Amino acid sequence: MAVLEIRKFGDPVLREKTFPIEKIDQEVKKLAKNLIDTLHNAPGMGLAAPQIGILKRVIVSDLGDGPSVYINPQIIWRSKETEVQEESCLSLPGVRILISRPQKIKVKALSPQGKGLELSMQGLQARVIQHEVDHLDGILILDRASKSERQKALQQISQYIRIQ
Ligand SMILES: [Zn+2]
Repeated sequence: MAVLEIRKFGDPVLREKTFPIEKIDQEVKKLAKNLIDTLHNAPGMGLAAPQIGILKRVIVSDLGDGPSVYINPQIIWRSKETEVQEESCLSLPGVRILISRPQKIKVKALSPQGKGLELSMQGLQARVIQHEVDHLDGILILDRASKSERQKALQQISQYIRIQ
């Protein structure tokens, strides 16, 4: 088991470009396992490779029904219908803000066995996957928030920094 350090807001790695996985080898399987171990230890509902400092397109989620791994995930469809819910992020401790996202999505990805997946998701699962795919593109919830929610988040972050 390898629980790795979760990179926090301010670490430039969270804003960098990530690279697709070209071959699912032992290294990729180990990365997926480390992400799951780190997610369970946090605990959280989702984690993306850049959050442990790895610039590769791999995310994991666990909504309490066991871990799922998505390699090279792509959101190929988003519903016009959106939903506003409170979100938090393991890289932004103490921040909880309202974020609007499409309610339903379709996701294409590879499984750790190299199998092509195409999944329809809605509600919390769709939200978690959108949040994690955003991490692969250097996007944080702050960037998705309304001006007032963003201000609230920055205030929550400054309180957190003061405690440090
Ligand atoms: Zn996050």
